[in-house]
Amino acid sequence: MGSSREWARPTVDEVSDGVFRIPLPMPGNPLEAVNVYAVTSPDGVAMVDGGWAKPGAIERLEWALGKLGKRLSDIHTVLTTHFHFDHYTLAVDLKRRIGCRIALGEGERRTIDEILAGSTAVGPNSMERLLARCGVPARYTAENLFRGEGSANYMYPDVWLHDGDRFDLGRDILAVSTPGHTTGHFCFIDERAGLAFTGDHILPTITPAIGGEGPSERMPLADYLSSLQLMADRPDARLLPAHGIVAPSVHARVRELQEHHEQRLNQCLQAIGAGAGDTYDVAKALRWTRRGRRLSELAGMDQLMAVHETRFHLDVLHATGKVAVDSTGPVDRYAMA
Ligand SMILES: [Zn+2]
Repeated sequence: MGSSREWARPTVDEVSDGVFRIPLPMPGNPLEAVNVYAVTSPDGVAMVDGGWAKPGAIERLEWALGKLGKRLSDIHTVLTTHFHFDHYTLAVDLKRRIGCRIALGEGERRTIDEILAGSTAVGPNSMERLLARCGVPARYTAENLFRGEGSANYMYPDVWLHDGDRFDLGRDILAVSTPGHTTGHFCFIDERAGLAFTGDHILPTITPAIGGEGPSERMPLADYLSSLQLMADRPDARLLPAHGIVAPSVHARVRELQEHHEQRLNQCLQAIGAGAGDTYDVAKALRWTRRGRRLSELAGMDQLMAVHETRFHLDVLHATGKVAVDSTGPVDRYAMA
């Protein structure tokens, strides 16, 4: 089956001297592929992101490295941007096969603990509770919630990343903490070559989902907006995303994403002004995807993600004093402040 998107087709795409984009398959997933990047040097290969541990993925990676005259066993390090299955699980597989070191943001520690413990403290159960507080009918949530990967494809990394860590991979790579998409999300920067490996923090055509580990005590959209500004305050760089094409300017895309969220906050406020009382009502009043679809026109899990995202916008509106919330009942009710 061929891919409908040019960027997702099997290739080894040299994006900069010694840096190669390798799209790995995501069978059955609408994203189609995840870009991993091979950073080559005389010492071997470092990867940025691992990919999804699904049949065919490791063979594709092996094929791609073969085109570079390298083998899987040449990989010594995998820097992963976040814990999501399509970035981390193949890194775990590589570690088991060849003993390479893998690195993951320290902010993912709690989530990895919980995945490995098979815990329901976060994850689907608490997601169900959050969606109930948003006003989504329990039956709808039960039928449509994605249960995720099992714990078998997870293990602890060798290295927990901290903001400002540097890696000598034949070139100097800076790890920058960018919470929002997930709490422990990191971008990796080659300052000299002007490259930013942005994972899912900044994608060229999609608006990244926020708060990807489910409920937490943090405010994921506020984190996300700070992390966008952080990238805007750094020197501009080429955008090397985990999904989609390589783009010339991180700054240009950051501005678009900032405008998108500014608009979304205004639209949420307008919806509440017009009488939407809970998160589910606000999500129904908004239009979704670039095609401007209604909530009810989205697939089941996408509707839940849309409500989840709306909730994070309302949290920011509440924190900035624009809306009031009444949390005394089973569903959180909003009104203009
Ligand atoms: Zn992700």
